[in-house]
Amino acid sequence: MALQTSKFFKSACNISRAGLSSFGDLLWPPLCGVCGESVAAAGDGMCRVCWDEVMGCAGGDYCRRCGKDVSRYAVVDGRCGICSGAEFAFDALARAGVYRDALRKLIQGFKFNDRSELAGLLGQMADSAFQGSEFYDQVDMLVPVPLHWRRRLRRGYNQAYLLTKQFNHPTATICTDLVRIRNTHRQWGLEPAKRRRNVKGAFGVRRRHNFSGKRICLVDDISTSWATLNECAKTLKLAGAEKVFAVVVSVAMQRY
Ligand SMILES: [Zn+2]
Ligand SMILES: [Zn+2]
Repeated sequence: MALQTSKFFKSACNISRAGLSSFGDLLWPPLCGVCGESVAAAGDGMCRVCWDEVMGCAGGDYCRRCGKDVSRYAVVDGRCGICSGAEFAFDALARAGVYRDALRKLIQGFKFNDRSELAGLLGQMADSAFQGSEFYDQVDMLVPVPLHWRRRLRRGYNQAYLLTKQFNHPTATICTDLVRIRNTHRQWGLEPAKRRRNVKGAFGVRRRHNFSGKRICLVDDISTSWATLNECAKTLKLAGAEKVFAVVVSVAMQRY
């Protein structure tokens, strides 16, 4: 964890140094990406308070099957109390943090406020979780959770794809042959059963796909009820994938 923390910190300092080096920044000091305070005064790319908050959301014990925060001693036969009754199509999940406080604000900015530059920091956080996972060495392909083309057009980018591009793996390739064939409603605020119905049959694979026999790692920004990851994993396994793992920046402990 110390190593991961220093990596995030270095990344923030680099952003800060790059930001402060221009003359324009002396006139209009950069602001903290989370709370809007001047970061020139605080000396970081993000203000110290927000940085500590992001770090407070990252790491910690969690269930390697569902990603929810639980003590390692509360996992029995690979299942925690939260996921013990649930069946997933994905085989394991790694996450960088919990969706709350400053990390939640960063992800919302990244996704809804056109702040694609946050892919660097958030992608490195997810990559650290990936590198610390038990499946890191097994993965052949990285597959970002797709957006429907209409939503991608509106947003200008697929946030999961930008995160995936930050990943550092010696052999795994990025593949975008998993596609969203139905423009689903947003999952926010829906009950778990409605989330499952909302994404049912929403994904497909391109005809040219090469998923057969592959060990795949899905990448996304957030998992709340596992509905999207589960549906993606189901689609990939129907297409012949041998294993499907998932890495997300954050896991929500409650419904959003
Ligand atoms: Zn701040
Ligand atoms: Zn669990």
